[in-house]
Amino acid sequence: MHPPHHRCWAEIDLAAFERNLKRIQAALPDGVRYVSVVKADAYGHGMPQIVRRLMQSGVDCFAVANVKEAADIRHMGKGWPILVLSPLLPEEDRFLIDYDLIATVSTPEEATRLNALGKAHNTVIKVHLKIDTGMGRLGVWHEEATTLRAQINAAVHLHLEGIYTHFSSADNDPAFTQLQRERFLKALPEDTDDLIIHADNSAGLDTLSAESPFNAVRVGLLQFGIPPYPNSALGRAKVEPVFSFHTRVGLTKTLPAGTDISYGRTHQLQRDTKIAILTAGYADGIPIELSNKGSVLLHGERCPILGRVTMDQTIIDITDMGTVEPGDHVVLIGQSDSATISASEFSETASTIPWETLCSVTKRVPRVYVGSREI
Ligand SMILES: *Cc1c(COP(=O)(O)O)cnc(C)c1O
Repeated sequence: MHPPHHRCWAEIDLAAFERNLKRIQAALPDGVRYVSVVKADAYGHGMPQIVRRLMQSGVDCFAVANVKEAADIRHMGKGWPILVLSPLLPEEDRFLIDYDLIATVSTPEEATRLNALGKAHNTVIKVHLKIDTGMGRLGVWHEEATTLRAQINAAVHLHLEGIYTHFSSADNDPAFTQLQRERFLKALPEDTDDLIIHADNSAGLDTLSAESPFNAVRVGLLQFGIPPYPNSALGRAKVEPVFSFHTRVGLTKTLPAGTDISYGRTHQLQRDTKIAILTAGYADGIPIELSNKGSVLLHGERCPILGRVTMDQTIIDITDMGTVEPGDHVVLIGQSDSATISASEFSETASTIPWETLCSVTKRVPRVYVGSREI
Protein backbone atom coordinates (compact mmCIF):
# COMPACT_ATOMS: atom_id res chain seq x y z
CA MET A 1 0.00 0.00 0.00
CA HIS A 2 2.91 2.36 0.57
CA PRO A 3 6.53 2.34 -0.50
CA PRO A 4 8.79 1.33 2.41
CA HIS A 5 10.81 4.02 4.18
CA HIS A 6 8.75 6.91 2.81
CA ARG A 7 7.48 9.41 5.37
CA CYS A 8 5.78 11.57 2.78
CA TRP A 9 5.51 10.96 -0.95
CA ALA A 10 3.59 11.95 -4.05
CA GLU A 11 2.27 9.24 -6.31
CA ILE A 12 2.14 10.01 -10.03
CA ASP A 13 -0.20 7.72 -11.96
CA LEU A 14 1.31 7.62 -15.44
CA ALA A 15 -1.43 5.34 -16.79
CA ALA A 16 -4.03 7.95 -15.79
CA PHE A 17 -1.86 10.63 -17.38
CA GLU A 18 -1.68 8.69 -20.64
CA ARG A 19 -5.46 8.22 -20.65
CA ASN A 20 -5.94 11.95 -20.03
CA LEU A 21 -3.73 12.80 -23.02
CA LYS A 22 -5.79 10.55 -25.29
CA ARG A 23 -9.03 12.12 -24.05
CA ILE A 24 -7.78 15.68 -24.47
CA GLN A 25 -6.49 14.92 -27.95
CA ALA A 26 -9.81 13.30 -28.90
CA ALA A 27 -11.66 16.38 -27.59
CA LEU A 28 -9.72 18.86 -29.72
CA PRO A 29 -11.50 20.02 -32.85
CA ASP A 30 -9.83 19.00 -36.14
CA GLY A 31 -6.78 21.05 -36.95
CA VAL A 32 -6.37 22.40 -33.42
CA ARG A 33 -2.84 21.83 -32.14
CA TYR A 34 -2.03 20.65 -28.63
CA VAL A 35 0.54 22.87 -26.96
CA SER A 36 1.44 21.05 -23.75
CA VAL A 37 2.39 23.39 -20.89
CA VAL A 38 4.99 21.65 -18.70
CA LYS A 39 6.52 24.58 -16.81
CA ALA A 40 7.56 24.26 -13.15
CA ASP A 41 8.74 20.63 -13.39
CA ALA A 42 5.52 19.69 -15.20
CA TYR A 43 3.41 21.21 -12.44
CA GLY A 44 5.45 19.35 -9.83
CA HIS A 45 4.88 15.92 -11.44
CA GLY A 46 8.47 15.56 -12.71
CA MET A 47 9.56 16.90 -16.08
CA PRO A 48 11.38 13.84 -17.57
CA GLN A 49 8.67 11.27 -16.84
CA ILE A 50 5.86 13.55 -17.99
CA VAL A 51 7.62 14.88 -21.09
CA ARG A 52 8.53 11.35 -22.19
CA ARG A 53 4.84 10.37 -22.15
CA LEU A 54 3.92 13.52 -24.04
CA MET A 55 6.53 12.77 -26.70
CA GLN A 56 5.16 9.22 -27.05
CA SER A 57 1.58 10.46 -27.36
CA GLY A 58 2.64 13.01 -29.96
CA VAL A 59 1.78 16.50 -28.79
CA ASP A 60 2.46 19.32 -31.24
CA CYS A 61 4.51 21.70 -29.11
CA PHE A 62 5.83 22.19 -25.59
CA ALA A 63 5.51 25.42 -23.63
CA VAL A 64 7.72 26.28 -20.65
CA ALA A 65 8.47 29.25 -18.44
CA ASN A 66 12.18 29.66 -19.09
CA VAL A 67 15.24 28.58 -21.07
CA LYS A 68 16.45 26.14 -18.40
CA GLU A 69 13.20 24.18 -18.65
CA ALA A 70 13.38 24.40 -22.43
CA ALA A 71 16.94 23.04 -22.46
CA ASP A 72 15.82 20.08 -20.31
CA ILE A 73 13.21 19.17 -22.92
CA ARG A 74 15.63 19.69 -25.80
CA HIS A 75 18.05 17.23 -24.22
CA MET A 76 15.23 14.65 -24.28
CA GLY A 77 14.39 15.05 -27.93
CA LYS A 78 15.46 16.92 -31.03
CA GLY A 79 12.94 18.58 -33.29
CA TRP A 80 10.10 19.23 -30.85
CA PRO A 81 8.92 22.85 -31.04
CA ILE A 82 9.45 24.52 -27.64
CA LEU A 83 7.84 27.87 -26.86
CA VAL A 84 9.25 29.97 -24.01
CA LEU A 85 6.30 31.77 -22.41
CA SER A 86 8.19 34.26 -20.20
CA PRO A 87 10.45 37.13 -21.21
CA LEU A 88 14.11 36.21 -21.66
CA LEU A 89 16.76 37.99 -19.64
CA PRO A 90 19.18 39.65 -22.04
CA GLU A 91 21.96 37.19 -21.19
CA GLU A 92 19.64 34.28 -21.98
CA ASP A 93 19.05 35.20 -25.63
CA ARG A 94 21.81 32.85 -26.82
CA PHE A 95 19.81 29.82 -25.62
CA LEU A 96 17.30 30.45 -28.41
CA ILE A 97 19.99 29.54 -30.93
CA ASP A 98 21.81 26.87 -28.91
CA TYR A 99 18.58 24.96 -28.19
CA ASP A 100 16.45 25.96 -31.19
CA LEU A 101 13.67 27.58 -29.14
CA ILE A 102 10.71 29.81 -29.95
CA ALA A 103 10.65 33.16 -28.14
CA THR A 104 7.67 35.22 -27.02
CA VAL A 105 7.88 38.87 -28.13
CA SER A 106 5.90 41.57 -26.31
CA THR A 107 7.84 44.78 -26.97
CA PRO A 108 9.57 46.59 -29.85
CA GLU A 109 12.81 46.42 -27.83
CA GLU A 110 12.64 42.62 -27.67
CA ALA A 111 12.01 42.44 -31.42
CA THR A 112 15.02 44.68 -32.11
CA ARG A 113 17.24 42.72 -29.71
CA LEU A 114 16.32 39.30 -31.12
CA ASN A 115 16.64 40.47 -34.71
CA ALA A 116 20.17 41.67 -33.89
CA LEU A 117 20.90 38.28 -32.33
CA GLY A 118 19.72 36.50 -35.47
CA LYS A 119 21.84 38.81 -37.61
CA ALA A 120 24.96 38.27 -35.49
CA HIS A 121 24.59 34.48 -35.89
CA ASN A 122 23.42 34.63 -39.47
CA THR A 123 20.20 32.84 -38.64
CA VAL A 124 16.46 33.41 -38.23
CA ILE A 125 14.84 33.42 -34.76
CA LYS A 126 11.34 31.95 -34.45
CA VAL A 127 8.95 34.11 -32.44
CA HIS A 128 5.34 34.22 -31.30
CA LEU A 129 3.90 37.71 -30.90
CA LYS A 130 2.00 38.05 -27.64
CA ILE A 131 -0.90 40.47 -27.42
CA ASP A 132 -2.16 41.93 -24.13
CA THR A 133 -5.95 41.90 -24.35
CA GLY A 134 -6.51 42.78 -20.69
CA MET A 135 -4.38 40.48 -18.55
CA GLY A 136 -1.88 43.32 -18.11
CA ARG A 137 1.12 41.03 -17.84
CA LEU A 138 3.06 40.09 -20.99
CA GLY A 139 2.20 41.11 -24.53
CA VAL A 140 1.95 44.29 -26.55
CA TRP A 141 -1.21 46.27 -25.74
CA HIS A 142 -3.80 45.16 -28.31
CA GLU A 143 -4.18 48.62 -29.81
CA GLU A 144 -0.45 48.67 -30.63
CA ALA A 145 -0.21 45.10 -31.90
CA THR A 146 -0.35 45.96 -35.61
CA THR A 147 2.70 48.21 -35.34
CA LEU A 148 4.77 45.57 -33.55
CA ARG A 149 3.64 42.88 -35.99
CA ALA A 150 4.79 45.07 -38.89
CA GLN A 151 8.16 45.54 -37.19
CA ILE A 152 8.56 41.76 -36.78
CA ASN A 153 7.48 41.07 -40.36
CA ALA A 154 10.02 43.58 -41.63
CA ALA A 155 12.84 42.11 -39.53
CA VAL A 156 14.91 39.85 -41.78
CA HIS A 157 16.22 37.73 -38.91
CA LEU A 158 12.86 37.09 -37.23
CA HIS A 159 10.22 34.59 -38.33
CA LEU A 160 6.71 35.25 -37.03
CA GLU A 161 5.35 31.76 -36.45
CA GLY A 162 2.43 32.44 -34.14
CA ILE A 163 0.33 35.02 -32.31
CA TYR A 164 -1.27 34.54 -28.91
CA THR A 165 -2.95 36.11 -25.93
CA HIS A 166 -3.80 35.00 -22.40
CA PHE A 167 -7.19 35.24 -20.71
CA SER A 168 -7.27 36.60 -17.18
CA SER A 169 -10.70 35.31 -16.13
CA ALA A 170 -11.62 32.40 -18.40
CA ASP A 171 -12.96 30.44 -15.42
CA ASN A 172 -15.28 33.05 -13.92
CA ASP A 173 -15.99 35.99 -16.22
CA PRO A 174 -17.32 34.95 -19.64
CA ALA A 175 -18.21 38.55 -20.57
CA PHE A 176 -14.66 39.81 -20.02
CA THR A 177 -13.22 36.75 -21.76
CA GLN A 178 -15.45 37.53 -24.74
CA LEU A 179 -14.14 41.11 -24.77
CA GLN A 180 -10.59 39.76 -24.70
CA ARG A 181 -11.42 37.42 -27.61
CA GLU A 182 -12.80 40.32 -29.64
CA ARG A 183 -9.77 42.50 -28.93
CA PHE A 184 -7.52 39.60 -29.97
CA LEU A 185 -9.44 38.87 -33.20
CA LYS A 186 -9.32 42.55 -34.12
CA ALA A 187 -5.56 42.64 -33.63
CA LEU A 188 -4.94 39.61 -35.90
CA PRO A 189 -3.91 40.00 -39.53
CA GLU A 190 -6.55 39.24 -42.16
CA ASP A 191 -4.67 36.20 -43.38
CA THR A 192 -3.72 33.88 -40.52
CA ASP A 193 -3.27 30.73 -42.65
CA ASP A 194 0.42 30.30 -41.97
CA LEU A 195 0.26 31.31 -38.32
CA ILE A 196 -0.37 29.41 -35.10
CA ILE A 197 -3.10 31.35 -33.31
CA HIS A 198 -3.75 30.47 -29.67
CA ALA A 199 -5.52 31.94 -26.68
CA ASP A 200 -7.10 29.23 -24.56
CA ASN A 201 -5.67 27.40 -21.58
CA SER A 202 -7.34 24.45 -19.81
CA ALA A 203 -10.31 26.58 -18.83
CA GLY A 204 -10.99 27.47 -22.47
CA LEU A 205 -11.07 23.98 -23.93
CA ASP A 206 -14.85 23.75 -23.66
CA THR A 207 -15.46 26.77 -25.83
CA LEU A 208 -13.10 25.94 -28.71
CA SER A 209 -14.67 25.31 -32.07
CA ALA A 210 -13.25 24.31 -35.42
CA GLU A 211 -14.67 27.51 -36.93
CA SER A 212 -12.64 30.02 -34.91
CA PRO A 213 -9.27 31.15 -36.27
CA PHE A 214 -7.67 29.71 -33.12
CA ASN A 215 -5.76 26.62 -34.23
CA ALA A 216 -3.92 25.72 -31.01
CA VAL A 217 -4.67 25.42 -27.30
CA ARG A 218 -2.22 25.66 -24.39
CA VAL A 219 -3.13 22.92 -21.90
CA GLY A 220 -1.51 22.73 -18.48
CA LEU A 221 -3.55 21.71 -15.46
CA LEU A 222 -6.15 19.61 -17.29
CA GLN A 223 -3.50 17.10 -18.42
CA PHE A 224 -3.00 16.22 -14.78
CA GLY A 225 -6.66 15.47 -14.34
CA ILE A 226 -7.59 18.53 -12.33
CA PRO A 227 -10.47 20.66 -13.62
CA PRO A 228 -9.51 24.36 -13.72
CA TYR A 229 -12.91 25.14 -12.22
CA PRO A 230 -15.79 22.89 -11.10
CA ASN A 231 -17.19 20.84 -13.99
CA SER A 232 -15.09 22.67 -16.55
CA ALA A 233 -14.00 21.02 -19.77
CA LEU A 234 -15.06 17.70 -18.30
CA GLY A 235 -17.91 17.63 -20.75
CA ARG A 236 -15.30 17.30 -23.44
CA ALA A 237 -12.45 15.45 -21.82
CA LYS A 238 -13.26 13.24 -18.85
CA VAL A 239 -9.88 13.39 -17.16
CA GLU A 240 -8.79 11.59 -13.98
CA PRO A 241 -6.38 12.68 -11.26
CA VAL A 242 -2.70 11.85 -11.83
CA PHE A 243 -1.31 13.22 -8.57
CA SER A 244 -1.90 11.99 -5.02
CA PHE A 245 -0.15 13.00 -1.79
CA HIS A 246 0.61 10.62 1.07
CA THR A 247 2.15 10.41 4.51
CA ARG A 248 2.27 8.04 7.50
CA VAL A 249 1.42 7.92 11.18
CA GLY A 250 4.52 8.43 13.35
CA LEU A 251 2.96 7.78 16.76
CA THR A 252 -0.32 7.99 18.64
CA LYS A 253 -1.15 9.12 22.17
CA THR A 254 -4.01 10.39 24.32
CA LEU A 255 -4.20 13.83 25.98
CA PRO A 256 -6.67 15.11 28.59
CA ALA A 257 -9.59 17.44 27.83
CA GLY A 258 -8.81 21.15 28.25
CA THR A 259 -5.19 20.92 27.08
CA ASP A 260 -4.03 23.74 24.78
CA ILE A 261 -1.82 22.08 22.18
CA SER A 262 0.51 22.93 19.29
CA TYR A 263 2.61 26.05 18.56
CA GLY A 264 0.97 29.17 19.91
CA ARG A 265 -1.37 26.87 21.88
CA THR A 266 -3.61 27.14 18.84
CA HIS A 267 -5.97 24.27 19.67
CA GLN A 268 -7.81 23.46 22.88
CA LEU A 269 -8.90 19.85 23.26
CA GLN A 270 -12.63 19.70 24.04
CA ARG A 271 -12.53 16.10 25.23
CA ASP A 272 -10.00 13.44 26.15
CA THR A 273 -8.45 13.13 22.71
CA LYS A 274 -6.47 10.49 20.94
CA ILE A 275 -4.11 12.12 18.49
CA ALA A 276 -1.78 10.84 15.79
CA ILE A 277 1.37 12.65 14.72
CA LEU A 278 1.86 12.55 10.95
CA THR A 279 5.37 12.44 9.48
CA ALA A 280 4.87 15.44 7.17
CA GLY A 281 4.46 19.19 7.57
CA TYR A 282 4.83 22.43 5.69
CA ALA A 283 8.38 21.53 4.65
CA ASP A 284 6.76 18.81 2.55
CA GLY A 285 4.04 21.01 1.12
CA ILE A 286 1.16 20.84 3.60
CA PRO A 287 0.08 24.49 3.68
CA ILE A 288 0.18 26.13 7.12
CA GLU A 289 -3.21 27.53 6.14
CA LEU A 290 -4.63 24.03 6.81
CA SER A 291 -3.91 24.51 10.54
CA ASN A 292 -7.10 23.77 12.53
CA LYS A 293 -8.93 23.67 9.17
CA GLY A 294 -7.91 20.77 6.97
CA SER A 295 -8.49 17.07 7.29
CA VAL A 296 -6.75 13.91 6.10
CA LEU A 297 -7.89 10.40 5.23
CA LEU A 298 -6.94 7.48 7.46
CA HIS A 299 -8.42 3.99 6.89
CA GLY A 300 -11.06 5.61 4.68
CA GLU A 301 -12.18 8.12 7.35
CA ARG A 302 -11.69 11.86 7.62
CA CYS A 303 -9.60 13.05 10.58
CA PRO A 304 -9.29 16.77 11.35
CA ILE A 305 -5.94 18.56 11.65
CA LEU A 306 -5.49 19.97 15.17
CA GLY A 307 -3.49 23.14 15.84
CA ARG A 308 -0.75 24.35 13.60
CA VAL A 309 0.82 22.45 10.75
CA THR A 310 4.51 22.41 11.72
CA MET A 311 7.63 21.99 9.61
CA ASP A 312 7.93 18.21 9.77
CA GLN A 313 4.84 17.02 11.67
CA THR A 314 1.10 17.48 11.72
CA ILE A 315 -1.30 16.55 14.54
CA ILE A 316 -4.65 14.90 13.74
CA ASP A 317 -7.60 13.77 15.87
CA ILE A 318 -8.15 9.99 15.83
CA THR A 319 -10.41 9.72 18.89
CA ASP A 320 -13.26 8.23 16.86
CA MET A 321 -11.07 5.84 14.92
CA GLY A 322 -10.46 2.15 15.52
CA THR A 323 -6.92 0.90 16.00
CA VAL A 324 -4.27 3.17 14.53
CA GLU A 325 -0.65 2.03 14.45
CA PRO A 326 2.64 3.80 13.76
CA GLY A 327 3.38 3.43 10.04
CA ASP A 328 -0.28 3.52 8.97
CA HIS A 329 -0.94 5.15 5.62
CA VAL A 330 -2.50 8.64 5.55
CA VAL A 331 -3.82 10.34 2.40
CA LEU A 332 -3.51 14.12 2.11
CA ILE A 333 -4.77 14.34 -1.49
CA GLY A 334 -6.32 11.33 -3.17
CA GLN A 335 -8.42 8.33 -2.27
CA SER A 336 -8.59 6.11 0.81
CA ASP A 337 -11.20 3.34 0.45
CA SER A 338 -14.33 5.20 -0.66
CA ALA A 339 -13.28 8.62 0.73
CA THR A 340 -11.60 11.24 -1.45
CA ILE A 341 -9.91 14.58 -0.95
CA SER A 342 -9.35 16.11 -4.38
CA ALA A 343 -6.57 18.57 -5.18
CA SER A 344 -9.31 21.15 -5.71
CA GLU A 345 -10.84 20.55 -2.26
CA PHE A 346 -7.41 20.53 -0.58
CA SER A 347 -6.57 23.84 -2.29
CA GLU A 348 -9.87 25.48 -1.48
CA THR A 349 -9.57 24.60 2.21
CA ALA A 350 -6.05 26.07 2.14
CA SER A 351 -7.34 29.27 0.45
CA THR A 352 -5.23 28.60 -2.60
CA ILE A 353 -5.54 27.14 -6.11
CA PRO A 354 -4.54 23.68 -7.40
CA TRP A 355 -1.73 25.21 -9.51
CA GLU A 356 -0.04 26.52 -6.35
CA THR A 357 -0.71 23.32 -4.39
CA LEU A 358 1.13 21.23 -7.01
CA CYS A 359 4.06 23.67 -7.14
CA SER A 360 4.32 23.70 -3.34
CA VAL A 361 5.11 20.01 -2.89
CA THR A 362 8.77 20.27 -1.98
CA LYS A 363 11.96 18.58 -3.10
CA ARG A 364 11.98 16.48 0.08
CA VAL A 365 8.97 14.58 -1.22
CA PRO A 366 9.86 11.70 -3.54
CA ARG A 367 7.67 11.28 -6.61
CA VAL A 368 6.71 7.63 -6.94
CA TYR A 369 5.68 6.68 -10.47
CA VAL A 370 3.04 4.00 -10.89
CA GLY A 371 0.79 2.61 -13.59
CA SER A 372 3.27 2.29 -16.42
CA ARG A 373 5.64 -0.52 -17.31
CA GLU A 374 8.48 1.58 -18.65
CA ILE A 375 9.65 4.47 -16.46
C1 LIG B 1 0.58 28.28 -17.43
C2 LIG B 1 0.04 28.82 -18.70
C3 LIG B 1 -0.93 28.11 -19.42
C4 LIG B 1 -1.56 26.82 -18.93
O1 LIG B 1 -2.63 27.12 -18.09
P1 LIG B 1 -3.54 25.99 -17.42
O2 LIG B 1 -4.61 26.77 -16.78
O3 LIG B 1 -2.68 25.25 -16.45
O4 LIG B 1 -4.05 25.13 -18.54
C5 LIG B 1 -1.31 28.62 -20.65
N1 LIG B 1 -0.80 29.79 -21.11
C6 LIG B 1 0.10 30.50 -20.43
C7 LIG B 1 0.62 31.77 -21.01
C8 LIG B 1 0.55 30.06 -19.20
O5 LIG B 1 1.44 30.78 -18.51
